[in-house]
Amino acid sequence: MGSKNVVNNYGSFDVTFAYGKGSTCYDVNGKKYIDFLAGIAVNSFGHNFKPLVKAVQKQLKRQIHTCNYFTSDVGLEYADSLLKASGFSGIYFGNSGAEANEAAFKLARKYGFLTGGEKRKTIYTLESSFHGRTLATLTATGQKKFHPECFAPYAPGFKTIKANDYQAIKTAFDDTTAALMIECIQGEGGVNLVDSEWAKQAAHEARKAGALVMVDEVQTGFGRTGTLFASDWLGFEPDVVSFAKGVAGGIPMGGILFRGKAAEVFKAGDHQSTFAGNPLACSAALVVLKELLKDGFMQSVEQKGEYIKKAIKSWNSKFVKEVRGKGLLLGIDIDETKSAVELETKLLQNGLLTSTAGKNTLRLVPPLNISQKEIDSGLEILKQTLLQF
Ligand SMILES: *Cc1c(COP(=O)(O)O)cnc(C)c1O
Repeated sequence: MGSKNVVNNYGSFDVTFAYGKGSTCYDVNGKKYIDFLAGIAVNSFGHNFKPLVKAVQKQLKRQIHTCNYFTSDVGLEYADSLLKASGFSGIYFGNSGAEANEAAFKLARKYGFLTGGEKRKTIYTLESSFHGRTLATLTATGQKKFHPECFAPYAPGFKTIKANDYQAIKTAFDDTTAALMIECIQGEGGVNLVDSEWAKQAAHEARKAGALVMVDEVQTGFGRTGTLFASDWLGFEPDVVSFAKGVAGGIPMGGILFRGKAAEVFKAGDHQSTFAGNPLACSAALVVLKELLKDGFMQSVEQKGEYIKKAIKSWNSKFVKEVRGKGLLLGIDIDETKSAVELETKLLQNGLLTSTAGKNTLRLVPPLNISQKEIDSGLEILKQTLLQF
C-alpha cells in the first residue's frame, strides 16, 4: 500500500488511514486510534458525522461548484448565518488558512495605501507566530526555522513584535504601519496564549497609529477554544479575522471576516479565487455553524478542555512540566530532556493521535464533539505512555 510518487514533504509517519467514526480512526491494517488531533484541528465534528455527511451528500447531488461569477443559494445562506453569528459586516471566502491570511494582508496593504499612500505598508505579526506556507504568509510567520535561505527572497513589508512586550507596542506603530496581525493562541508556536490586557493595549496603539487590527483565527476559530472565535475573550473587536481549518469540518475552506473601516476596502475584482465559496464547502460549513450554536455546545468544549487539563495534572508525571490552553486547543510542556516528537511517535504506536508545537510541547486538538468515553480512552493511553517514557 502507499505511493512513492506523492511528494514526501510532510515527514509522514508510516500509517495509512482507511476510515474513522466519531473520534476514533482505523488504519488499513484495522488498527484503532483515538483521535486527539482531528487532522490538525480540522475535523471539528470527528469522522462520519451524520449531519455533515447528509448535508454534503445532498449538496453533491445539487451542485458542487458555481465559480465566482455567480452566487449560490447555500453560499448566501451561509454568509448570512455567519455574519449574524459573528457580528462582522463582510466576508471573503477562500480555500485554506494561508489564502485567508493572504487575503487579509492584501486588504491591509490596500487599506494602508488608501489611508497613507505608498508609505503605509508595514504589517506586524508576533514573534513565534505561524501564518501559513505561501511566500507572504511564510514571511509573516515569526519563526526563523520557517525562513530557510532556499526560498529567499521573502516578501518585503513584514515586521515582528514580541507578544506581551508592553514597551514594544509604545514605539512600534506609526504612519508606516498598515496592520497588526495577532495570533492570540499560537498553535504551531507552542500553544502560547497572549495576555488579553496586552492584546487590548497593542490593538489600541496600532489603531492610534491608524493601522488595522487583525486576528489569525485559522486554528482558534469556530469553537476550538470554547467561543466562536478566540478573540471574543480579548476584549476588543478586531477589524479582520482570518479563519480556515475547522470551519467546514474537513472540507477545504477558509476566509476572512471584516467590519468597520476594513469593510470598505475590497472592491469587486480586488481579490478572488476560483474555488472560493463553493457550494459544497458552504453546505458543510452551515452544518458546523449550526452545531456550534446549539445551546451549551461551546460550554461543553470548554468543560472538556478543563477536564483533560485537570486529569493530566492529577497524574503528577515527572515528565509533564505544564498543561495549558483554552477549550480543546491544549499544549503539554514536557521535560526538556525529552522530545515532543518522540512522545508523539510513541503515542501513535500505542493508538493515540496527537501533534507537537515546538520541540518540547505536545499539542492536543481533538474533535470538538469527542465523547467522554473517547476522552478517557485517549487519556489512559497518554498516561500509560508517559509511565513508560
Ligand atoms: C494552519 C494555520 C495556518 C495555515 O493554514 P493552511 O490551511 O495550512 O494554509 C495559518 N495560520 C494559523 C494560525 C494556522 O494554525
